[in-house]
Order: sequence, then C-alpha cells, then structure tokens
Amino acid sequence: MGMTYIPSTLSEALHLRAETGARPLAGGTDMMVQSKRGIGLAPEFPYPVMIISGLEELRGITKHEDGSVEIGALASPAEIAASDIVPWHVRMAAAGMGAVALRNSATIGGNIGNASPKGDLPQPLILLDADVILVSLRGETKMKLDDFILGSKKTALKDDEIIRSVIIPPHEFTYSFYRKIGMRRANAISKLSLSAAAVVRDGEILDFRAASGASGPKVIRSYSAEAIIRGRRVEDIPEVLDGFLEAWNAAISPHAMPQYRRNTTRRMLSHFLSSIHDGAEAGIIS
Ligand SMILES: Cc1cc2nc3c(=O)[nH]c(=O)nc-3n(C[C@H](O)[C@H](O)[C@H](O)COP(=O)(O)OP(=O)(O)OC[C@H]3O[C@@H](n4cnc5c(N)ncnc54)[C@H](O)[C@@H]3O)c2cc1C
Repeated sequence: MGMTYIPSTLSEALHLRAETGARPLAGGTDMMVQSKRGIGLAPEFPYPVMIISGLEELRGITKHEDGSVEIGALASPAEIAASDIVPWHVRMAAAGMGAVALRNSATIGGNIGNASPKGDLPQPLILLDADVILVSLRGETKMKLDDFILGSKKTALKDDEIIRSVIIPPHEFTYSFYRKIGMRRANAISKLSLSAAAVVRDGEILDFRAASGASGPKVIRSYSAEAIIRGRRVEDIPEVLDGFLEAWNAAISPHAMPQYRRNTTRRMLSHFLSSIHDGAEAGIIS
C-alpha cells in the first residue's frame, strides 16, 4: 500500500508530486471505485496518493477581461451547473452528472484526469476549444484539452504535473444543442452525448461545430466534417447534409452498440442542422 499525503498548499503539493510521484486524489469518486476492496473495507491504493481537496489555489470560477472563463480543477459539477458565467453547454453537462451527492463531491479536474470516453465534461469543453492549465515545479503549461486527452483513460499529464484549471475562450453562438442519453435521467454514465453550436449571421454559417462523447476512445470532434458546413449559406444545408453526416459517421468509432450510437448521433446532428435550415428561432435547439 502506498503512502497518503495531505498537502495544504499548491507549492507543497508540487514538491510532493515531483519527489514521490503521488497521484492527486480530488473527489475520489473514480479513484475510490477503481481501488475498492469489498464491502466494509477501505480502498487501498497500490501507489502513493495525495489528497488535494484542501488546495485553495485550485478553487474558483473566474471570468477574465477577454471574456474567457477559468474553472479551477476542484470545481464540482454542482458549482459549475450553478454558475451563470460558465458557458451553457458546460453547465448542461455538469447538471446531468450523477446524482446530487456525486455532483457535490466530484471535480472537473478528476473528470478530465480520468479521461473516460464517457466522462461528461470533456465533451462540451472540447466543443468550446478549452485549454487545460498544468502546473509543476518547472512552471505552467497551457494546452488544448483535445490534445491533452490522448485516448481512453490516457492523458498527456506528466508525473510531476497537476491540473490547475481549464480556460474556455469566449463564444457567441446563435444556435446551441446539448443532449446526454443515459439509462436514466440522472445517476447514469452516458451511453452517448452530443453538443453542437453554430453562429449564423445574415444567412451565412460563420461557425459550426459538434462534439460527441462515448462514440470512440475519446471525445470526437471532426474538424474536416465541420468544414463541410462552415462558410455555407443556410439554404445550402440540404445539399451538404448527407456529405457532412457521412464524414461524421466515418470519424466516430463506438465500441459498443455501434449501430445505435451511429443512428442516434446522425438523427441529432440532422435535427440540429435541419432546424437551422427551417428557420428555427436563434437560441437553444431542443
Ligand atoms: C455512482 C457514480 C456515478 C457517476 N456518474 C458520472 C456521470 O454521470 N458523468 C461522469 O462524467 N462521471 C460520472 N462518474 C465518474 C466520476 O464521478 C467523475 O469522473 C468525476 O468527475 C471524477 O472526479 P473526482 O474528483 O472524484 O476524481 P478522482 O477520483 O479524485 O480522480 C480521478 C482521476 O483524475 C486525477 N486527478 C484528479 N484531480 C486532478 C488534478 N487536479 N490534477 C491531475 N490529476 C487529477 C486522479 O489522479 C485520477 O487519476 C460517476 C462515478 C460514480 C461512482
């Protein structure tokens, strides 16, 4: 069994991480389950662990002057869902995570660090081109979350680094869509989730993007499929829709229930784009 440390400052945590390689434990909702031993027995970690839940430096949700929003790694889904400065897609995903107890104890840093393809928060964050901020004794690194998550349960986190926060750049979408499909409305891991957003001005589609969760080893964004729609006029949507859906279909690789996941994703994307074509009022497409 590994040692357990409880650092009280980020500086102490970074020294511990560099010297012992101790793994950060934030809410523990993934780590405790992964290391459980049986009913009535406390989980045992075969590696050193540091409990980071007391680190004030990893808390808070801030809007910066450039309009970007920074969410500290320890922010819980409940805090994120309740914040009116967090972009809508991310709030929706946070509000749909687990049940109340989980929404209060899990963290955004843990959801990213766990890198499950079914994790709810990376999907809207990748849609919004979020960056992740990593800290170590060597300094601070900023990288796209889409590059940080390498695959199922794999990240680019180095042995001496800790996730400090995520930064979401500002966007002004005219159309937004979010849906999580689980076994039940709450307390269910995603079977499938999809976010989409568009900026349409004077009939021109200036921006279009989509991201889907639980459709491959990591969140899928197909930049080449998005390019089929971006720059087009709204009235061209029927002409390019099939080509876009085919390109999207080629980008996803669901490992279980592939037909169901492919058909459902296709229907949701088609619904979003057809609604825009049919003159839906700007706002949320439901
Ligand atoms: C009953 C139940 C229901 C669940 N439902 C959902 C759901 O609906 N949607 C969903 O997405 N997930 C769900 N989960 C999974 C889990 O709750 C989330 O992934 C959660 O966000 C993990 O956060 P945590 O703080 O508890 O992570 P932890 O267990 O503390 O850590 C998870 C991983 O991230 C790393 N880590 C944590 N913080 C940092 C940091 N700051 N820097 C570097 N690495 C870090 C840890 O080392 C570990 O590898 C559920 C889990 C359970 C048990």
